[in-house]
Amino acid sequence: MKIAILGAGISGVSLARMCAADGHDVHVLEKSERAGGLCKSRKVDGFTFDEAGGHIMFSKDKTVLDWMKARCGGDPGVVETVRNTRIRWHDRWVPYPFENGVGHLTKEAIVDCMDGYIEAYVQRRLGVECPANFGDWIQWRMGDGFARHFMTPYNEKIWECDLTTMSAGWVAGRVPEAPIRDVLAAAVGLDTEGYTHQSVFWFPKEGGFETMVKGCVDGGGFTLHVSTAVESVRRQGDRFFVNGDEYDLVVNTVPLPLVEPAFADLPDEVRGDIQALKPISLVNVLIGVKTDEPLPDLSWIYLPFPAQGAANRVTYYSNYAPSNAPPGHGCYMAEVTHRGDLKPTREWAMDLCRKLDAAGVLDADRIVTLDWVNSDFAYIDQNLQFADRIGRVRGWFDDSGYITFGRFGRYEYHNSDQCIARAMEVHAHVREIAASGDPAAPRFS
Ligand SMILES: Cc1cc2nc3c(=O)[nH]c(=O)nc-3n(C[C@H](O)[C@H](O)[C@H](O)COP(=O)(O)OP(=O)(O)OC[C@H]3O[C@@H](n4cnc5c(N)ncnc54)[C@H](O)[C@@H]3O)c2cc1C
Repeated sequence: MKIAILGAGISGVSLARMCAADGHDVHVLEKSERAGGLCKSRKVDGFTFDEAGGHIMFSKDKTVLDWMKARCGGDPGVVETVRNTRIRWHDRWVPYPFENGVGHLTKEAIVDCMDGYIEAYVQRRLGVECPANFGDWIQWRMGDGFARHFMTPYNEKIWECDLTTMSAGWVAGRVPEAPIRDVLAAAVGLDTEGYTHQSVFWFPKEGGFETMVKGCVDGGGFTLHVSTAVESVRRQGDRFFVNGDEYDLVVNTVPLPLVEPAFADLPDEVRGDIQALKPISLVNVLIGVKTDEPLPDLSWIYLPFPAQGAANRVTYYSNYAPSNAPPGHGCYMAEVTHRGDLKPTREWAMDLCRKLDAAGVLDADRIVTLDWVNSDFAYIDQNLQFADRIGRVRGWFDDSGYITFGRFGRYEYHNSDQCIARAMEVHAHVREIAASGDPAAPRFS
């Protein structure tokens, strides 16, 4: 088949590689000057940075993880790191996740957290139902102390909204519930480990996270058309046309609001739903420092409080791979979310760094490189209307004969490993289509 894949992020190029290996004639259309999307990296003054914030390689699925590592070449082409994450809680470094680090708080805060946690636990056992909104969900699941001392200020910073206007649906399965015994053990000072699927992670030895994408493109057997925006997509019978060229099948991975104007066949209601899918954007501040010492042995930290500045997370990026910084230097990345209204300047970025200095995170006098990258589409706005809207949009695409997937191509809150897992599912579906000869059946969802 002649297949058009729209967008050359990791979703698009991984699917392209898989389909090309089956002998299909695969064309990937990418608006930007190179593949990578949110997985792009860049070099600045000899430092390497990931553009859209700190990325690590991990997966619960070993097949996917092995596939990702294999794309990085070398023997091995990746560095393995034991995760060491902290929350900067006032003047303390509290292990993450917060429930597992509760013993590191002040005694008063430990009592607040445990009192609320047990009360919430009892209420749930008495049958109090899971609330529909995220703000109430935090109280229901974690109790008042954990909410006040971390969860609420941190989440208000990252989502930039009143948390009761967000749905609780997206956290199911994403925020694992720590067993109460672990939380009690943590409260009395016994160390426990949370989020164990991520306790070891990998990172490309050279070139930043984008190396994985390059390894997908190189020798991938498909044609990559860069600087080629998708401008028109239409279906005529069982033929598909993209920018006027004819295909047997079209798979979209471009963020839906960006590609919606190109789709000729979309009904007005579905267009309206897509236009209402507003993203959360992110400015990633790239910070290079001169230092004779290695950076502290941390992977990344969370900053819940407004006084710590606008950044919600700082990655100790030169710890991921030594090649990320030149000798005698180290580098960090600080992530700031916004709703399309942040226009960074050098003064703003410097102020952010001074606040990180005051919070005890870095020494602003050692900064030698300061840059930033904005990503319009970083997180999904999980508002209370989102599930219904995206349900209608996915429903239309799934019945249309087009396939759409990817972080914003389907609005599934996926990391790159899950995008690759989805590409494997789409690949299996393409095989079924090739076998049946009917592009519209069976249906992909
Ligand atoms: C802050 C942050 C941290 C993350 N951390 C991790 C992590 O630690 N580990 C991990 O695995 N994942 C992480 N992720 C998730 C990961 O970045 C995404 O899951 C993945 O990159 C999404 O890939 P995609 O191909 O679906 O979409 P994208 O990367 O968004 O690709 C879409 C592509 O479409 C192109 N495009 C746009 N408009 C057009 C057009 N009109 N025509 C043609 N092309 C167009 C874009 O240029 C882009 O290349 C993180 C994401 C963020 C925001």
